Amino acid sequence: MNDKKIPRVDLPPDVRLDTLAVREGLPNSPWGENSEALFLTSSFVHPDAATAAARFANEEEAFVYTRFTNPTVMMMERRLAAMEGTEACIATSSGMAAILLLVMGLLKAGDHVVCSQSVFGSTIKLLAGEFGKFGVETSFVSQTDVSEWRKAMKPNTKLLFAETPSNPLTEICDIRALADIAHNASALLAVDNCFCSPALQQPAKLGADLIIHSGTKYLDGQGRVIAGALCASEALVNDKFVPVMRSAGMSLSPFNAWVVLKGLETLSIRMQAQSARALQLAQWLEAHPAVERVYHPWLASHPQHELALRQQSAGGAVVSFVVRSQQAAGAALARRNAFAVVDATRICSITANLGDTKTTITHPASTSHGRLTEEQRLAAGITQGMLRVAVGLEDLEDLKADLARGLDPLA
Ligand SMILES: *Cc1c(COP(=O)(O)O)cnc(C)c1O
Repeated sequence: MNDKKIPRVDLPPDVRLDTLAVREGLPNSPWGENSEALFLTSSFVHPDAATAAARFANEEEAFVYTRFTNPTVMMMERRLAAMEGTEACIATSSGMAAILLLVMGLLKAGDHVVCSQSVFGSTIKLLAGEFGKFGVETSFVSQTDVSEWRKAMKPNTKLLFAETPSNPLTEICDIRALADIAHNASALLAVDNCFCSPALQQPAKLGADLIIHSGTKYLDGQGRVIAGALCASEALVNDKFVPVMRSAGMSLSPFNAWVVLKGLETLSIRMQAQSARALQLAQWLEAHPAVERVYHPWLASHPQHELALRQQSAGGAVVSFVVRSQQAAGAALARRNAFAVVDATRICSITANLGDTKTTITHPASTSHGRLTEEQRLAAGITQGMLRVAVGLEDLEDLKADLARGLDPLA
């Protein structure tokens, strides 16, 4: 079975991340193209009936139908897996589709999940709402208190789900500690690595079994496509996820895969440059008289700064901060001041998206976290005076001036 395999790029065995990001994929076609080809085709032809039969029976690895096999998509999968340090990867139509595939592939009615309460809002809705309907129960626990995860474990816990750093507070969870809790209970740990990408953090090296990506964010990096991926061992991908993909079809289009594939080539330099700008902007904000508090993992004032230094190689491009307002002034004025800072910008894009070369600014309490009650928001630490900036690649001095336009009058 499977003795005929799709060939691999001939790379030396010890090449490093930046080389894999540019070179891993598939061998080029007989035409010798240097830039990877975009295979926009729904199906693939076979030389004869017997070969077609062998391919459909999985006796020969080959491209069959783009719902589950396509060369451009496979190039992206192999490249991302290599960068994450996992054996395999399966691309999906969106980041949320990767989480859908994760749960459909691994869990059944009666199973239990432990998940951070600080994960992406749609992840909470998918787990608690949609999968709750199908009898998969989820307990939501603290992002940072490992003992809460331990206490939430049940005999039927099959999956732990974390996302680090979190949005918008950049809270860090301890991947190694969560992997130990999972493995002691014969459960698996999944980590949503959207904010750092493999350029800054490789959860598999810290014990995570499954890595989730929204390719929409830093992997594409220029805000062009919706894409997702799930990285894991070959056994999990082939046995648990490919069969679900084959029948459920949350497939990534080859065009979107190609955009992400080419985005991966510049991921590392983008992440380093955007993180460096974000840190400098965070330090400048910390010194600004109209700013009460700043959140960025590379600031010494960050509550999990030491942990961040251990498991990330840079702080990431997201900075959140609270606009100062008089103690007794209340939430309405705090919101008005935050809105004034947003509305004074002339460069930043006012959008809740992130992971773009264009810097974005958003007021989480009225956008990404607008559907929560004020009580839930305060429990999550998201106040009316808080703004989130996802730093892109514009000149840092121009970004400071853009924020100063709204902040200086409040000082
Ligand atoms: C955006 C995002 C997702 C969802 O990804 P889509 O590609 O928008 O479906 C999941 N997790 C995190 C952390 C995200 O930021």
